[in-house]
Amino acid sequence: MLEGETHLSQLSTLITKEEIENRVAELAAEIREDYLGKNPLLLGILKGSFVFMSDLIRKLNIPLEIEFIRLSSYGAGKEPSNRIRLVHGINVPLKDRHVLIIEDIVDTGLTVRYLHDYLNRKRPSSIKLCTLFDKPSRRVVDVTVDYLGFKVPDTFVVGYGIDFDEKFRYLPDLCIMEGQV
Ligand code: 5GP
Repeated sequence: MLEGETHLSQLSTLITKEEIENRVAELAAEIREDYLGKNPLLLGILKGSFVFMSDLIRKLNIPLEIEFIRLSSYGAGKEPSNRIRLVHGINVPLKDRHVLIIEDIVDTGLTVRYLHDYLNRKRPSSIKLCTLFDKPSRRVVDVTVDYLGFKVPDTFVVGYGIDFDEKFRYLPDLCIMEGQV
């Protein structure tokens, strides 16, 4: 094994793809009821939310629009940094729109708080948050999660769109990454 290389054997399944699929369907049913007729704008936070977003919108199956924003908190490693950086913003007008943030995982809450401040300046009608995974024990700032898939323990997870140094996004299950990297 090359120095620094991470192996699939260091991963253990936390939530299976079937469990994820069922929960995404339940979330979609809830969201559909709340947003039917509102033409919501689903705003995915790149890159981690892209798999969730694509599964969710097909299960939602109502008129909606999507946009993506790119923020970075983690650098190349497992520890988050307290500084959030806007990598790509959005140019579409948000005034009077119903914005639903689509996040992969909420950890300290700093990314979502930053995004709320950014979006509020654009005067949307509403801003809500849907996250597939949440690590509430890690919270540094208060965040209201309107639609939650799963609470997860304080471990580093990968898969279903979520990476470690750009690896493992393709895994269909959510996996815990064990050991030193
Ligand atoms: P927060 O700002 O809430 O601390 O962090 C949110 C972002 O950190 C998520 O969008 C995600 O990109 C990243 N993150 C948080 N926990 C994990 C984790 O367990 N694994 C990975 N790969 N990224 C995580």
